[in-house]
Amino acid sequence: MPDEWIEVTADEDFIRRERAKARELRKTPYYQNLLNRGICHYCGKKFPREELTLDHIVPVARGGRSTRGNLVVCCRQCNQNKGMLTPAEQLLAETPETPPDGSPDRQ
Ligand SMILES: [Zn+2]
Repeated sequence: MPDEWIEVTADEDFIRRERAKARELRKTPYYQNLLNRGICHYCGKKFPREELTLDHIVPVARGGRSTRGNLVVCCRQCNQNKGMLTPAEQLLAETPETPPDGSPDRQ
């Protein structure tokens, strides 16, 4: 596996700071509202509040910040499936590795 290009940029201080910020954000009316609505950002299903977590779209460990744009409400299952991948890497992970026959991109 060519893992080298997956760069882990965040240091421990950054991670601690952004996680603390996420906990604070969770208490704000904006996120309380989302938690009460109970819709998972990823699968779109409805869950009881206690089944939901706040998830960084770009993980903190990958340099993502705790902002409204990057912090979403999702169910535990989706959170687990996502792990450390960014959205682009997730798409790559879901793409079949073998190209269709007759692919013209290699000579
Ligand atoms: Zn979900």
